Amino acid sequence: MIDVAIIGGGPAGVAAALALKRRGVGRVVILEREAVLGGVPRHCGHSPFGMREFGRVLTGPAYTRRLRAAAEEAGVEILLRHSVVRLRPGGVLDVATPDGVKQLRALRVLLATGAREMPRSARLLGGDRPLGVLNTGALQAHVVLHGSVPFRRPVVVGTELVSLSALATCRGHGIKPVAMLEQGTRQVARWPLALFPRLLRIPLYYAAEIAEICGGARVESVKLRDGREIICDGVLLTGEFVPESSLARMGHLAVDAGSGGPVTDQYGRCSDGAYFAAGNVLRGIETAGWSFREGAAIADYIADDLVGGLPYAEGGVEVVCGEGLKYAVPQSLARVTRLRGVLQLRVAEAIRGQLRVRAGDVVLYKRRLAALPERRILVDLESLRIPQEVSQIIVEIVA
Ligand SMILES: Cc1cc2nc3c(=O)[nH]c(=O)nc-3n(C[C@H](O)[C@H](O)[C@H](O)COP(=O)(O)OP(=O)(O)OC[C@H]3O[C@@H](n4cnc5c(N)ncnc54)[C@H](O)[C@@H]3O)c2cc1C
Repeated sequence: MIDVAIIGGGPAGVAAALALKRRGVGRVVILEREAVLGGVPRHCGHSPFGMREFGRVLTGPAYTRRLRAAAEEAGVEILLRHSVVRLRPGGVLDVATPDGVKQLRALRVLLATGAREMPRSARLLGGDRPLGVLNTGALQAHVVLHGSVPFRRPVVVGTELVSLSALATCRGHGIKPVAMLEQGTRQVARWPLALFPRLLRIPLYYAAEIAEICGGARVESVKLRDGREIICDGVLLTGEFVPESSLARMGHLAVDAGSGGPVTDQYGRCSDGAYFAAGNVLRGIETAGWSFREGAAIADYIADDLVGGLPYAEGGVEVVCGEGLKYAVPQSLARVTRLRGVLQLRVAEAIRGQLRVRAGDVVLYKRRLAALPERRILVDLESLRIPQEVSQIIVEIVA
């Protein structure tokens, strides 16, 4: 019997495996669908990774080599080319392996499947279907892992932090974007990183949205909603991350509409107590360092749970995401005298106002803030004194 099966060998999954081994948990198995451990950083040929985990600034590939070495040294079982294709109640997994589909059973399972950028289909971009429309992850896999360059003069869509990662990848491989498009009126990446496109002399168009992608075999141009046409040979769609939560969605676990990830409590425990979740599967994109620390913290709770140490989840407090907020993680709180951890919040649009946590009309927590979509907002759970009779709290930002 496997003690803990971890689905996904990125920073969150590996950190969890290391923490579980440190806690003396016997059989810890990482199931990774790729041929190499490491997750997204494998193909990020740039820094910064690893500052908090290893005390050094590393490129993505160097960081993943460290993760791999640490996991092997700790005695974690690593099963590569193992894709989990179905979750069943109580920790039973259907896994596609090089030898066919098998069923594995674990006492506890951690979902650490990460997040992915929104693909063309979900962005509802019209026009032709030529080759050369990619997300950042796919571009990086092409150039960093396979040494092939899919285009030379693409249009880059988006201005998130990952869009700058896309520009760094382009720059390192002789690709010169002809324009960067932002549908809003300001860049999403924060200053001073937001200066990067200007330093590279890439024209940045605001309030710009693609109406149509044009081309035969390959991309030839894009037409914007305002009628402008930009000649290019590719379209690089960056950001707009969504959690890779298909397993939860297709299975029996509750999924939160706001975050797009599985519903969890403060211990990372899902709606079936055999399952936990950590890393970007919880809520789209955070840094590798954040995901790593989150994986380690949730693993500690799993280790407690294996010896019967976690308070029971039922009869907890529901966390409802109210006005002004895009999501709140976790979405439920097991009732304990002293809450630990943080409530992670994000907004969809820039907003100023009062952040409030209330139970009915009783305000439990408040502070003024100016929030931007790219900034995480944290509320220390310990600061919330939730009365015994309360079964629901509402988190909101009121102007
Ligand atoms: C282009 C780009 C650039 C970035 N640059 C930086 C940076 O410079 N610095 C930084 O700190 N962060 C950066 N990040 C963010 C960082 O990569 C993520 O925060 C981190 O990788 C998240 O870790 P994770 O373990 O949650 O998920 P991931 O790294 O996404 O790992 C998830 C793993 O799960 C596996 N998996 C998924 N589904 C299954 C399944 N069904 N069965 C088996 N395995 C499965 C995947 O193959 C993958 O290996 C960047 C992200 C991107 C996309």
